[in-house]
Amino acid sequence: MSNNQVHATDTMNLNIPIAISARHCHVNEEDFYHLFGREAILQNWKELSQPGQFASQHILTIKGPRGQIDNVRILGPFRTETQVEISQTDAIKLGVTPPIRMSGDLDRSESITLIGPHGILHKKQGLIIAQAHIHMAVSDAATFNVQDKEIVTVEISGKVRQLQLMNVVVRISPEFILEMHVDTDEANAAAIHTHSIGKLIKME
Ligand SMILES: [Zn+2]
Repeated sequence: MSNNQVHATDTMNLNIPIAISARHCHVNEEDFYHLFGREAILQNWKELSQPGQFASQHILTIKGPRGQIDNVRILGPFRTETQVEISQTDAIKLGVTPPIRMSGDLDRSESITLIGPHGILHKKQGLIIAQAHIHMAVSDAATFNVQDKEIVTVEISGKVRQLQLMNVVVRISPEFILEMHVDTDEANAAAIHTHSIGKLIKME
């Protein structure tokens, strides 16, 4: 008999690794070739923690009415729609007001100009600030007793600051491994770097 019975009777004690997402860009094929040229190849330069996701060697400049930011990395693989994810601090620098959204929810999101080595694109929409979220496998969801798209709170205990981040959305997929994604503003607010953990708090 196995004695390995771990029940989620106290979900507040279960730890979630936190990864910090720097500003980045997902692209569709058409936009990628326009920006980088027909000969360009979207290649895996560095594996990301979520299976199948990778950073490429390609970088571009994003430009808004007030300013621009260079060296924004393209992540792969290709998506059906080009999507740029920045922080609120970036938005102020660019002079734009992107909505806080889940990845892929781009309807009436903010416009942005993309400048690559081969071409320039003005996107009418596609710029967002990513809503803090937790990737989970199906087995994790059972452990934490949460549903896909459930809104939870996560307590982040940095060495010098502790904070609770509300409105964190749970995303469940067999493709995911357990990890919370926050942007650089959220990480800085909590004064965390790499290898931090959060504790999930279910909303009543
Ligand atoms: Zn994510």
